[in-house]
Amino acid sequence: MRILITGAAGFLGSHLTDRFLADGYHVIGMDNLITGSLDNIAHLENEPRFEFVEHDVTHFIDVKGDLDGVLHFASPASPVDYLELPIQTLKVGSLGTHNALGLSLAKGARFLLASTSEVYGDPQVHPQPETYWGNVNPIGPRGVYDEAKRFAEAMTSAYWRYHGVDVRIVRIFNTYGPRMRPGDGRVVSNFIVQALLGRGLTVYGDGTQSRSFCYVSDEVEGIFRLFKSDEHKPVNIGNPEEYTVGQLAERIQEMVNPDAGVRYLPLPTDDPKVRKPDISRARTLLGWEPEVHLDVGLANTIDYFRELQKRNALKPPPVLTEASEGRR
Ligand code: UDP
Repeated sequence: MRILITGAAGFLGSHLTDRFLADGYHVIGMDNLITGSLDNIAHLENEPRFEFVEHDVTHFIDVKGDLDGVLHFASPASPVDYLELPIQTLKVGSLGTHNALGLSLAKGARFLLASTSEVYGDPQVHPQPETYWGNVNPIGPRGVYDEAKRFAEAMTSAYWRYHGVDVRIVRIFNTYGPRMRPGDGRVVSNFIVQALLGRGLTVYGDGTQSRSFCYVSDEVEGIFRLFKSDEHKPVNIGNPEEYTVGQLAERIQEMVNPDAGVRYLPLPTDDPKVRKPDISRARTLLGWEPEVHLDVGLANTIDYFRELQKRNALKPPPVLTEASEGRR
């Protein structure tokens, strides 16, 4: 079995590459390295079943030979990144998805779209089942990611309906773990890096907003099972254990540095107030549910960032501000 993973040098793409290689697949990893890093796939340098192609998937994707699967994971995925790269984010979700689907059609390959809990926007239904249509502001700063992914789901469903491409759609909820970039800007990496550097943890708003954090090995296992399943409709893969941002800040301070303290910053525009997946569909269809508790996942992630700190690779992470959101 030979598959293409777009975004293979990213956080999730690289872990997914490892998972498929472990199962005997040949993997072509593609990335334009705007948010991905070759460090994430450096361990595969001598792996004969892996090849890396540097390419921007918003341009025609040319892959020689047969393909059994295309997994489309290329996209900036952190609010800091997609607010800095708004046009690229819209293009990779739209043009990139179209190109990846066209490749799947041409090769007769199964297609899996990395979608997101952001399709639910600032949800008015809690927890979120796949049947919920969401509450997204199309013209807000997060709209560039949310609407690109919603378009990608629509395009994927159209290729299934009209071309018969064998599609899968995973809606990924906040995932964390080793290989997150220290400068990623998301809450888990920001808080850990800030605590390690002895700086106040930047809580946006009053910290009562909630998220449900899934450890990367659980996320990847769910995605792997979905790829191998027969399900064409979207499936939530996430951990339903919900925490407020304030609780997360407390937990990380306890684990890393109780003296770090907290700094309060304004809540970003359209920041969802709650988020928690309903995973009934994944449980029933895939026999999947998360296994790694937040404390265990955080400990592994902290170890990873401590290693980077030893190599002097940590600096204060980026935070969202009115200016970085490009408010007008
Ligand atoms: N957040 C925070 N401080 C940070 C980064 C994020 O308080 O330094 C908050 C953010 O406002 C949101 C939650 O943490 O409510 C999760 O943000 P993240 O960027 O990790 O992911 P999102 O779920 O918003 O895509």
